Amino acid sequence: MAKAVNLGFSRIGANRQLKKALETFWAGKSSRGDLLAAAKQIRRDNWAMQSAAGIDEIPSGDFSLYDHVLDTAITFGVIPSRFRIAALSSDLDRYFAMARGMASQQPIGALEMTKWFDTNYHYLVPEFSAGQEFSLAQPLAVQAYQEARTLGHETRPVILGPVSFLTLGKTHSADFSTLSLLDGLLPAYEELLRQLQAAGARWVQIDEPVLVFDADPGIQRSITAAITRLANAAPGLKILLASYFGGLGDNLDTVLRLPVHALQLDLVRAPEQLDSVIRNAPRNLALSLGLVDGRNIWKADLAKALETAGRAADALTPDRIFIAPSCSLLHVPVDLAGETALPAEIKDWLAFGKQKLDEVAILARALNEGREAVREALEENAASMRRRKESGLVLKQDVRKRVAGIDAARDGSRTPFSERNPKQQAILQLPLFPTTTIGSFPQTPELRRRRAQMRKGEITAAEYDGHIREEIAHAIAEQERIGIDVLVHGEAERNDMVEYFGELLDGFAFTGNGWVQSYGSRCVKPPVIYGDVTRRAPMTVEWWRFAQSRTRLPMKGMLTGPVTILQWSFVRNDQPRRDTCRQLALAIRDETRDLEAAGCKIIQIDEPAFREGLPLRKSDAPEYLRWAVDCFRLASSGVRESTQIHTHMCYAEFNEIIDAIAEMDADVISLESARSQMELLDAFAAHAYRNDIGPGVYDIHSPRVPSAEEMVALLERALQVIDARRLWVNPDCGLKTRTWEQVTPALENMVVAAGRLRVTAQVNRSAV
Ligand code: GLN
Ligand code: ZN
Repeated sequence: MAKAVNLGFSRIGANRQLKKALETFWAGKSSRGDLLAAAKQIRRDNWAMQSAAGIDEIPSGDFSLYDHVLDTAITFGVIPSRFRIAALSSDLDRYFAMARGMASQQPIGALEMTKWFDTNYHYLVPEFSAGQEFSLAQPLAVQAYQEARTLGHETRPVILGPVSFLTLGKTHSADFSTLSLLDGLLPAYEELLRQLQAAGARWVQIDEPVLVFDADPGIQRSITAAITRLANAAPGLKILLASYFGGLGDNLDTVLRLPVHALQLDLVRAPEQLDSVIRNAPRNLALSLGLVDGRNIWKADLAKALETAGRAADALTPDRIFIAPSCSLLHVPVDLAGETALPAEIKDWLAFGKQKLDEVAILARALNEGREAVREALEENAASMRRRKESGLVLKQDVRKRVAGIDAARDGSRTPFSERNPKQQAILQLPLFPTTTIGSFPQTPELRRRRAQMRKGEITAAEYDGHIREEIAHAIAEQERIGIDVLVHGEAERNDMVEYFGELLDGFAFTGNGWVQSYGSRCVKPPVIYGDVTRRAPMTVEWWRFAQSRTRLPMKGMLTGPVTILQWSFVRNDQPRRDTCRQLALAIRDETRDLEAAGCKIIQIDEPAFREGLPLRKSDAPEYLRWAVDCFRLASSGVRESTQIHTHMCYAEFNEIIDAIAEMDADVISLESARSQMELLDAFAAHAYRNDIGPGVYDIHSPRVPSAEEMVALLERALQVIDARRLWVNPDCGLKTRTWEQVTPALENMVVAAGRLRVTAQVNRSAV
């Protein structure tokens, strides 16, 4: 019999119970017992849901109080010494200190956080030291398995594999690689598997997602060594080796030689790999066919999936076939049933976690009992596929025509920077080292309260707008008082930089409860791009006009770039992402033109998600960068040469994308760099980047107010590689999460720092 399998499920609960339980616990308003009980209830619900859906192989150990990589570190005793202090003697206190840091007299920094592959989930980066010792300190997977068993569920424990665990971690010294610790780590993993076997588990799922990266001989050798040892350690335990987010590529040969019982394949992202896997798989290997998209919220096309599954069924005995999602369902919201506000026509096209479980079960039943057994479900699915394809909501002929008429080279070009820059300068008359900010000013509790009142209908839209205008006026008055050169309106009207534009564009839908975990208790509710994107009307012009009317200084027009809007949404799967991005680019292009027509001289198009769109395989990067750059240029180049285009990216690793950034050709780019001490500028210097740069001098992620001296020091470092005429002075990112009490003195210091630089620069220049 083919089996219905799941690899992992959302941990936040259908109504974000985990978030609430964590935050009340952190606030000291609930007990440890309350938190653990809430977590247990979520696991119980998840197992019950999967069992009711007819899933044969249900995972355990996929839940986490904060993050599964942190759980792996805890399991194997990888606890950096700064967390081994008396004040952190309780296991939970230590766990959350590692996750979030600790604000005490001597603050303790949390583990670093970074993106889990190309998802919007963030994991905590384990820190390994030279001579790191490992032990089975806390067998969390065994505990989870036993808990499920007590509740009547026979589950398959899920663990992060040793090679991925090491590879995803970091060390503080450059002189050894984390993979060199493998031999020391494996005995602890062996012990974990032995304990799982002793507890009664029949299967274990070992996730080795690093197999999705470019093939690397060191990784291949390590995987082979590790899996071989683990298979020998617990011979009674069958291993399902899972990798996801793409094909196995050049790792396939290695993987097919491993002593595992089943192999999970992502057939949503890499359907083409199935045939060669079938041809080359050893006789007893079962294939777990990841046919249901675990990364996106669209219903699976069951007919198509069955056709693929059928190819496997023709070649393999039924017991060697598992039907599964393409990856853990961690990355999709829990249950579509809770969506009451979505238009019925669009809701019909969607499947969240719970619905995806049903899809998996239906596919398995169709294989086992024949299509007739699930005819109704298949017919309903086919009808839904048809309704979506034929819906008047999806295709818009005018958008299609316009996109078809676009020539990226022609429509995305401007005169060279060296020619347009003097024209911009003639109009703007900016001093040397112009000061500016990234866009948002503090979103005060007052502002949030007003927004909530407006949503509940307690104040009218007009009243709400009045409050927003007051906020904007206040932000402008403050910037003028502080002496900033290029102003922003502060983005008080925006709850979120993507949602704001999505709500004003056609082709977007918004869920009421479509939450996905971003990290810990933080969840995001991405918009859904379901159809061709068009701009109904100008989106920002009126607010800009109001803001500019309050000052004689230049007021930036603030837009979110097409790549970032794409990256932070659930994107339609019926056309390539680049096509959707191009539609977004045209909508933003129209907005830049309208801003310009209204008199705006500086337009900033933020692209903080530009880098995270990079594909996992290096060979796929050029194609992505090509269309991402084209889209930015389309969005930004419909304006006169005298209109200055800014962009912003808030991270500090630019080496891989520096050529693309140069090709984006923004007049000014602002970046994050305060914390990394301007390290990123090496990439810009090596590339001989010619346009203006504003490397952040104020770390806005910290409540600390940096002094003018610190900022001068950072700027002097920047001046070693950047021409003084090209250097801007700004913070690392937007200020929305800070308070006015923190922001005001920091910006005052920033203006002082720019002033000091101007004095010395003039001395230097006249001396030349
Ligand atoms: N303009 C946005 C802001 O200041 C940019 C945010 C971001 O980079 N993530 O809030
Ligand atoms: Zn930013």
